[in-house]
Amino acid sequence: MNRLLERQIKKLLGDEYYKNPAFQTKVFQDFLESVDQSYSFKEKEVRLLERTLDLSSQELNDANKQLKKQNEEIKKLASLDSLTGLSNRYVFNNNLNLSLKRARRYKRKFSILFIDIDRFKIINDSLGHRIGDLLLKAIATRLKRCVRDSDTIARLGGDEFTLLLEEIRTPADAGRSAQKLMEELSRPYKLEGHELMTTVSIGISTYPTDAENIVDLFKNADTAMYQAKESGRNNYKFYHYSMGVKADEYMALESRMRKALERGEFELHYQPQLNLETGLICGMEALIRWNSPEFGLISPMNFIPIAEETGMIIPIGRWVLQTAACQAKKWQEQGLYKGHLSVNVSRRQLQDPGFLDIVDEVLKDCQLNPKFFEIELTESTVMQRPQFTMKLLKELKARGIYLSIDDFGTGYSSLGNLKQFTIDKLKIDRSFVRDLDNDADAKPIIEAVIAMAHTLKLLVIAEGVETEEQLAYLKGRNCNQIQGYWLSKPLPAGDMEALLKLRKKYI
Ligand SMILES: [Mg+2]
Repeated sequence: MNRLLERQIKKLLGDEYYKNPAFQTKVFQDFLESVDQSYSFKEKEVRLLERTLDLSSQELNDANKQLKKQNEEIKKLASLDSLTGLSNRYVFNNNLNLSLKRARRYKRKFSILFIDIDRFKIINDSLGHRIGDLLLKAIATRLKRCVRDSDTIARLGGDEFTLLLEEIRTPADAGRSAQKLMEELSRPYKLEGHELMTTVSIGISTYPTDAENIVDLFKNADTAMYQAKESGRNNYKFYHYSMGVKADEYMALESRMRKALERGEFELHYQPQLNLETGLICGMEALIRWNSPEFGLISPMNFIPIAEETGMIIPIGRWVLQTAACQAKKWQEQGLYKGHLSVNVSRRQLQDPGFLDIVDEVLKDCQLNPKFFEIELTESTVMQRPQFTMKLLKELKARGIYLSIDDFGTGYSSLGNLKQFTIDKLKIDRSFVRDLDNDADAKPIIEAVIAMAHTLKLLVIAEGVETEEQLAYLKGRNCNQIQGYWLSKPLPAGDMEALLKLRKKYI
């Protein structure tokens, strides 16, 4: 904790800010830790801090009110499953909603486990529903014994149980819980003279790794549970996004990607970025498109995850780096363009031991000065293995490459952490820009990000800017750059070239 700075801020902002709960939020504490002990605040920065603290405290108050309201609603509801005495579906959903809010706010993880009794139907059919019900009760009793008070265990109906595991550190914690449940539940049951043995299959889905909303978390836990059944029952499975794709589709797509690369079916589109001070195009992002003769245009969302999974992302990623770098060089030679050309690099590419060699070869092949080349990494990629990434980013920076963090605001990082990465630019995620019009939370977040990024001497670009109002708002808040449909959609190289030739001033 940076006490000196804290004292300085208290002195500058007065006593009332000392009591401000926003002062204790992680983002401020991280901020305090990120700046130098001897740093002396300038007048302008003090005003920014003041304003951000006001906004943050308002935000906290609103959230508290909402949480209170929801708690009361829950209490009013009959909350128990009548057979087992566990929570019912309604309570489970409510608790899940609260967990999601808390997890988002405090950047925590939680898991949901779908627990299904193997071959329960056989017990019901052979011994009757009465014994079946007794078994469900006995299972409920054991489940309750296995979990912490803070966790929610519910029966959704039939022989399906769900468990909400709060505040886990890693998905492996959920795996350990699943293992414990399986052991506990597979001990024999003595019910009215019958000795029964049963096993369970468990599917695990974790926020935010596997999904960021409740519907998908449920769907993914369910998919994982079926996967556990299919692989022989009496086990547990973590959700993995490749489960969402059927095995045969998956294989087919892999071989199609290989052919697509050979046949030149991939192409790059370029989306320009605008400098809000000069009104001129200052950068562009290269985005991959797959134009399949059989299936038409395939969205990167549908093939990149599978390319990552199969390793095809390495040759495809190399093609992207090479194509973009040579295009940048070509436009430079034509005297059309002097800005950065950025490419998105995925987690799998970054972890490929040959990644730096590929970058070097590409830059050499295209004879592009690295200072015009930009690499975008998503916030979650950077935070996945921070130490490893930090080293790699240093290597890239040493070559003079420009570095930015994509989708900022959706991952777990704090600005304080980011200071340690040698990055140049933050890209505010489009979801915050989209929410500008209707979500009261979006503005304080954007303003806090801009203010603090500037304190850390990073440039800020807002993605997904579509309207005049969004543009005006961002310009008014000293956001440096924008990207989005207001300026232009991603364009094929020919159209981008035509746009560059106009040398237009947009604002
Ligand atoms: Mg990007």
